[in-house]
Amino acid sequence: MSPTTAGVDALPILVVGAGPSGLVLALTLAQNGVAVRVIDKAPYPPKGQRGAGIMPRSQEIYEFLGVLPDILKAGHMVPPCIQYELPGSTNPPKQFDMMAMYDPSPDCPYASHHVLSWGQFPSHFLQLRPVALGQDEITKILRSHLARHGCEVEYGVELAGFDQSTESVKARVSITREGNMEPGIIQACWLVGADGGRGTVRKQAGLTFLGETRGEDALIIADVPITGLDRDHWHIWGDISTKLVTIRPCEKEGIFWIMAGGRQADCDKLASDPEAVRQFVRHVSNRTDFDFGEFITLSSFKPNIRMVNKYSEGRVFVTGDAAHVHSPMGAQGSNSGVMDSFNLGWKLALVYKSLAPIALLSTYTEERLPVIAQMLNKTTSLLDRTVAHAANKVDIKPEHLQNEDMNPWVRGKILLQLGINYRWSSIVIDEEADGGRVRSIEETRLKAYETATGASGDRVHAGDRAPDVPFLVDLKPKPNESAVGSGTKRLFDFLKPTHHTVLVFSGTVGAAVEILKEIPPLVARSMVILPTRTPIEQLVLGGGLEETHYVVKDSYGYAYKHYFVDPTKRKVVIVRPDGIVGAVVSGAEGVKKYIGLVFGTEPVN
Ligand SMILES: Cc1cc2nc3c(=O)[nH]c(=O)nc-3n(C[C@H](O)[C@H](O)[C@H](O)COP(=O)(O)OP(=O)(O)OC[C@H]3O[C@@H](n4cnc5c(N)ncnc54)[C@H](O)[C@@H]3O)c2cc1C
Repeated sequence: MSPTTAGVDALPILVVGAGPSGLVLALTLAQNGVAVRVIDKAPYPPKGQRGAGIMPRSQEIYEFLGVLPDILKAGHMVPPCIQYELPGSTNPPKQFDMMAMYDPSPDCPYASHHVLSWGQFPSHFLQLRPVALGQDEITKILRSHLARHGCEVEYGVELAGFDQSTESVKARVSITREGNMEPGIIQACWLVGADGGRGTVRKQAGLTFLGETRGEDALIIADVPITGLDRDHWHIWGDISTKLVTIRPCEKEGIFWIMAGGRQADCDKLASDPEAVRQFVRHVSNRTDFDFGEFITLSSFKPNIRMVNKYSEGRVFVTGDAAHVHSPMGAQGSNSGVMDSFNLGWKLALVYKSLAPIALLSTYTEERLPVIAQMLNKTTSLLDRTVAHAANKVDIKPEHLQNEDMNPWVRGKILLQLGINYRWSSIVIDEEADGGRVRSIEETRLKAYETATGASGDRVHAGDRAPDVPFLVDLKPKPNESAVGSGTKRLFDFLKPTHHTVLVFSGTVGAAVEILKEIPPLVARSMVILPTRTPIEQLVLGGGLEETHYVVKDSYGYAYKHYFVDPTKRKVVIVRPDGIVGAVVSGAEGVKKYIGLVFGTEPVN
C-alpha cells in the first residue's frame, strides 16, 4: 500500500464531520500543506454550548495551531459553583470551584484566560483552570482559520458509505442543494470519520464500540436567555439521584446553559417541551425570581460509555466521539477529540508526503487507545460517585467543599489533561528510562493520564507533554525580527504542528555540530539551548551556527530545570509536531535512532 497511489487528481484527505475533532484535524493538515475537504451532513453549523470546557492541554494545542488568541478573546472563565440546599433551607448556599485551582507555573502556562508571558503576572494572579466557550463559537473560530487555507466546510453533504482498496477510498455522498438531493463520489487517499458517536464511518469500517448506555442518567441540555439570575455563579439545585437543575452563564451576555434531569425526571418529556423545562426548573429550584426567554436549543442525552477496539481500518480512521463516548462529567469529550486529531494530523501529513512509512499510522491506535481507556474509567467513576453521593445524601462539610475526594462536583488536576503521555509508544526513545527499575509496558499504559504534570518532580520522559520554558533569549533572530537579546521568547513560540523541534542542550553551538548533522532539514528544526551563564563569545566556538535554526540562551535556567539537564552534560530532547517529547537521548546515535523509527530508513515509494 502506497500513500499516494489514489491517482494524480485524488484528494489527499477527506474528513467527515465538522465538529471540533474534524476541524482540528483539517487545520493541522492544512497547515502542513496537505489538501483536505471537510463535509458535514448538517445544513448549517449547529448552535449551542455543549463541549464548552477547554482544558489547559487543549489550550496549548490551540496555541500551536495559532487559534488560541481568538478563543481566549471570545471565551470566559468558568464561574464558581453555588449549590443551594433544598427545600427552603435557611442555611447559606455552598460555594466551590468545579475545577480545583492550581497556580500556573513557567512550564504550565494556562492559566486562566490569558496567554501568560511568564513573569508578566505574579503567580498568584492567575490560576490553572479551563476556559469556557460554546462549541458553536469554538468551531466558528476553527472554520475561520481553516478558510485561510482555502478550505470551507461543505455543509449539506452526507456520507452514505465508502469502499476502500489498497490504493484509495471512494466515498459515496448525498449532496443537498436548494432542497434537492444528489448523489456524488469523492475519491481520497485517506478518509477520517469525525462524525460523532452515531457516525457512519466507524460502523462501515467494522470497528467495534463496546460499552454501555446509562439510560437512567439521561439529562437535558438547553441554551436559553434568562433574566434575573446572577451571572457570577454556576447555579446547582437538587441532585442527580432525584431531580437536578444546573444553570451556567455563557460567554454571550444574557444567555445561560441549562443541564437538568435526574433519575426521577422524565427527560423525554422535558426535551420536547420548553414549557415543561421552565416548570421543572421552578419546581426544583423553588425560585420564581428569574425568567426565561425563547429557547435557542433543547435536547437530551444519555451517557454512553463506549470506545472502539482500534482507531483505523485500512485507509479509514476515526477521531473524537466517533471513537469514544462517555459521561460529560469532567468535560473530557471534545478535549480528547482535539488530542486524537492532533496526534493523527502530523502522522498523516508525513505519510501522505511520503516522508514517513505507512507503519507510522499504526501508532495512532497504539498511543491513543490506552489514554481513552483510562479517560472512560475516570469519567465513569465521576458519574458513579456523583450519583452515589447524592443517593446517600452525603453532607459535605464546609472545609471539604473544595476537596475532590469529598465533593464529587470538584474535578481534580488529572482532568486538566497535562499529564497525558505516550511513554509506552514504539516510536519514543528514552535513554534515561527506568533507572534500574524495569516497568512493563502494561504498567506504563495504565498511567496514560497521570504523569508529567510538571509539578510532580518526576523528570520529563519520552512520551510526555513537552513543558513550556519562558525567558529564552533568541540569539539568532530571523531577519525581520528584533535584534539579539532585545526580547525573550517561550519555547511554545517555536513549537509548531508542521515540524519536529530538536532541542540540543549544549555549552556551545560547536559541540552540537555532530547532532545537527543528523537532523533532516525538511521535517525538523534544531534549537541549541545554551546554559544561563554562557558568555556571548562562546557562541561562535567550533562553528555550527549556520546549521542551526535557532540558538537561544536559557536566561533564567528554566529550560535546564524543566528538562532536567545537568549543564555540564549534553542532552537532546526531540519534541514532536504534536508537542510530545519523542526522544530523550544523549547524542547523535540516539537522534539517528529516533529519526529512523519515525521517518523510516527505507524510502516509502
Ligand atoms: C451535556 C454535554 C456537555 C459536554 N461538555 C463538554 C465539555 O465541557 N468539554 C468537552 O471537552 N466535551 C464536552 N462534551 C462532549 C463534546 O460535546 C463532544 O465530545 C464533542 O462534540 C465531540 O466532537 P466531535 O467533533 O468528535 O463530534 P461532533 O461534535 O458530534 O461532530 C460530528 C459532526 O459529524 C457530522 N456527521 C455525522 N454523521 C455524518 C455523515 N454521515 N456525513 C457527514 N457528516 C456527518 C455531524 O453533523 C456533526 O457536525 C459534552 C457533551 C455533552 C452532551
